[in-house]
Amino acid sequence: MRNEYQPLIFEGSREGRKGYSLPNFDTPEFSVSELIPSEYLRQESPELPELSELDIMRHYTALSNRNHGVDSGFYPLGSCTMKYNPKVNEAVCRMDGFAHLHPYQPEESTQGALELLFELQESLKEITGMDEVTLQPAAGAHGEWTGLMLIRAYHEARGDHKRTKVIVPDSAHGTNPASATIAGYETVTIKSLENGLVDIEDLKAHVGEDTAALMLTNPNTLGLFEENILEMAKIVHEAGGKLYYDGANLNAVMSKARPGDMGFDVVHLNLHKTFTGPHGGGGPGSGPVGCKADLIPYLPRPVIVKDGESYKLDFDRPESIGRVKQYYGNFGINVRAYTYIRSMGPDGLKAVTEYAVLNANYMMRRLQEHFDLPFDRHCKHEFVLSGRRQKKLGVRTLDIAKRLLDFGYHPPTIYFPLIVEEGIMVEPTETESKETLDGFCDIMIQIANEAIQNPEIVQNAPHTTVVKRLDETLAARKPVLRYVKE
Ligand SMILES: *Cc1c(COP(=O)(O)O)cnc(C)c1O
Repeated sequence: MRNEYQPLIFEGSREGRKGYSLPNFDTPEFSVSELIPSEYLRQESPELPELSELDIMRHYTALSNRNHGVDSGFYPLGSCTMKYNPKVNEAVCRMDGFAHLHPYQPEESTQGALELLFELQESLKEITGMDEVTLQPAAGAHGEWTGLMLIRAYHEARGDHKRTKVIVPDSAHGTNPASATIAGYETVTIKSLENGLVDIEDLKAHVGEDTAALMLTNPNTLGLFEENILEMAKIVHEAGGKLYYDGANLNAVMSKARPGDMGFDVVHLNLHKTFTGPHGGGGPGSGPVGCKADLIPYLPRPVIVKDGESYKLDFDRPESIGRVKQYYGNFGINVRAYTYIRSMGPDGLKAVTEYAVLNANYMMRRLQEHFDLPFDRHCKHEFVLSGRRQKKLGVRTLDIAKRLLDFGYHPPTIYFPLIVEEGIMVEPTETESKETLDGFCDIMIQIANEAIQNPEIVQNAPHTTVVKRLDETLAARKPVLRYVKE
């Protein structure tokens, strides 16, 4: 594979070379200007490259090889669960009966699809310990907002209008305070203790008559299990608030512990993380929301119900918060998640959790001598290192992340959670082999040694990629997506 970008799309152009052959006209020939009024016609023809089909093929294949995905290399991006997406999921969601359905087909002719969605809801109820589930939300953050709207509808239906605040720990994922704000709430941040767990005293100090909900994830964003969750649930419930569980990353507890049993009232899941929907390229997600019985009346309409032997869409939900997405959510991702759950089975899902946790602890212990480990206790599916030791040597966490690119690894999540200085958040997932985990640890250790012996090589990384350090803000806000001929 060539490393330097050798654009051949224009430079390789040779006059008269063609990548297509069209059949002869079987109608009278005409000129475009006879058909299209001149004011709509381009004045100058665009200068397009002339290439053979093979050269075009190579151009685009070379570009596609510059991408990094789970199918091309290790992707330990913390809080994102970049696990393998089994190809059987793709085969199932492409079956004619699923792929060619029209959402406006009558219920009688979509029974198979409705059955699948209903059964998926049933599985997710079992996995989360909730009483009902909606599959409508399109992603995690959308699920958070939907769940908070259920809580809002619940309080309002009781005439309880003084609850204006949602409590969020300082380690939370950024979408939590954002969703609370969009749902019309004020966010109150509570502190974490030295050991990385929520400070119960600080929680008590902030819970009150104005608390709508406590929003939490367990294990928390540091990968640590909140052991006092039952006490926290009691504190919030006694004050009349609800508990919201951010279940985007269920890899740590799936089939072992259930949010519903920990005292949570609402949960969202990311089917495009734990349940193997492909993600990371901006494709569709799915963020189902589960709730306890007292919130069911407010679920988005329609709800898929089983009526005798058949399935139907129940629109008769007068207290519903309404639709949050057209049709039934992102159907294809739901089919993939269902396929995954059925192909793993309950024991398989339990094994997923065990391996996800084992892999994270293995790597954490291998790396802890070489990087600071701010929270030295068993982690769940991910762990957070700190690059502060390397920072003293002039090598920042960003440099370490860039250096990893030279070895073909996607870097871990960095500078997150915000409460860890120079944070490096690693989530290996259960689908990686021990050899892959060791390969990555070896390189991390090599980089830690380079930071001591040869910091410039890390500071100036990456050395082998097509583009070096980008202005990430500019790249996101003003991307140059078109080839500009020099
Ligand atoms: C990924 C993630 C989210 C957001 O999910 P999206 O599908 O990207 O909207 C929320 N919370 C946590 C903890 C996450 O890891």
